[in-house]
Amino acid sequence: MQTAEHQVELAGLTVDTRHYIGGQRFASAETFESISPIDGSVLAHVSRGGAGEADAAVWAARNAFPAWRDLGPTGRGEILHRLADLIETHVEQLSQLETLDNGSLLRSHRRGVMPRVAMNIRFFADWAMNELSHPVWQTRGHDNVVSWDPSGVAAIITPWNAPLMLATWRIGPALAAGDTVVLKPAEWTPLTASVFADLCEQAGMPAGVFNVVQGYGAEVGAALVAHPGIARIAFTGSVPTAKAIMRSAADNLTPVSFELGGKSPFIVTDDADLNLAVDLAIEQYDNAGQVCLSGTRLLVHEGIADEFAERFAAKAAQIVQGDPRDEATQIGPQIHRVHLDRVAGFVERAQAAGAQIAFGGGPNDDLGGLYYRPTLITGATPGSEILTAEVFGPVLAMQTYSSDEEAVQLANATEYGLAAVVVCGDRERAERLTKNLVAGTIWVNCFFVRDLAAPFGGSKKSGIGREGGVWSFDFYADVKNTVYAPSGWKE
Ligand code: NAD
Repeated sequence: MQTAEHQVELAGLTVDTRHYIGGQRFASAETFESISPIDGSVLAHVSRGGAGEADAAVWAARNAFPAWRDLGPTGRGEILHRLADLIETHVEQLSQLETLDNGSLLRSHRRGVMPRVAMNIRFFADWAMNELSHPVWQTRGHDNVVSWDPSGVAAIITPWNAPLMLATWRIGPALAAGDTVVLKPAEWTPLTASVFADLCEQAGMPAGVFNVVQGYGAEVGAALVAHPGIARIAFTGSVPTAKAIMRSAADNLTPVSFELGGKSPFIVTDDADLNLAVDLAIEQYDNAGQVCLSGTRLLVHEGIADEFAERFAAKAAQIVQGDPRDEATQIGPQIHRVHLDRVAGFVERAQAAGAQIAFGGGPNDDLGGLYYRPTLITGATPGSEILTAEVFGPVLAMQTYSSDEEAVQLANATEYGLAAVVVCGDRERAERLTKNLVAGTIWVNCFFVRDLAAPFGGSKKSGIGREGGVWSFDFYADVKNTVYAPSGWKE
């Protein structure tokens, strides 16, 4: 409900639809609509920024940088812990707001995602205070001392599939490292970022340390990443956008950290626990398939393929699709009409190219709107689009293989290398398989176990760099080695 010119009441929160720059709210002359994927209702008219807003935000962040840097890990940690506390007390409202804005399951937001948002802030604040050190070592009697110095302004650009979770996974370490931040959330999901800015203010974060610019990627996003005043670009999104950002970054030699798309393999060996394999395969439809890490290519040993396919189809038939606010719902809507049409296009082209649709294969007519049915494609030609391009919807493709060598060869036969899932009954066999898979993260007999201390990122076209634990600080900070000679000191 629009209550004032620049505010809407949603999920028990007052959401400001303007940019947040230097601790102030600024409106743009133009706005864009934030639409709920649940029912197509317009939630808000949000300020549509451009080069002017990007420039103002970068300067606000630059001005705030020296004082934030000089607070040190402990001073920053106190504020970041207060922020994490505030997120925890707002889990219910943030969950409801995010579900309205991006259509992901409310129960997932409540139980997993929003507590994780708080953890993204708390964990990296603690890491900066307690873990960020390297033992001093000597070179011919000289001491090598390593430090992680704050580097300046981090520009953070995020997608819509897990808006606040993916934003804070970058914001947490950037702020903890002593950088100041300008966030550009996705234009399909702008709302929780605005509330996050309010919580930063309530936590006592100095003005300008955290800033939000709203708008389209090609406008305010492009201006932000081309700005000479930024020290780092952390981008999560698609490969074509990453290429455009890298071209802009090249002009200023701005370091980038890219977390991009995936087309991950899900390997089931012939000695695998089939119940486990089917349960884990069903999880690949989570978030209506809008998960970069999903194992969307089911590679199943030919000896068990028929039984697996039968059990998988039976289990998939029980999936409850519907309103993401209902406790029983397992799969909600696609984010946007444009995206639904894109997903449908992949399936139509796969069919036209000779592949079969084992189940699903179209919008859910009972629900209407943006709900696409969980789908399994079989019989696709090796190298075809459905086996190599990221669909980012509830569409899996199944292939069979006859040897572990062939499984690895098929698994690696894409330009991506984000993740892989292996379901296997023998540890040594699993270790041989994983050794040869090209992926940033591999889950064996499990899925989505994500420790914030572990390195995370993609190989090949799935990304550049790793974050998590010390790897995050290696990116957001300037890592410095100071060498102290053994002599030259006055007594
Ligand atoms: P996208 O690349 O279209 O947009 C991502 C963000 O970039 C948005 O905020 C957008 O406004 C902005 N943007 C677009 N053009 C820009 C430009 N020229 N300059 C600066 N910013 C620009 O991606 P999307 O559709 O929002 O997200 C889906 C993609 O994200 C998928 O490929 C998915 O796999 C990937 N993803 C990756 C991870 C990961 O951790 N590897 C996590 C989630 C999503």
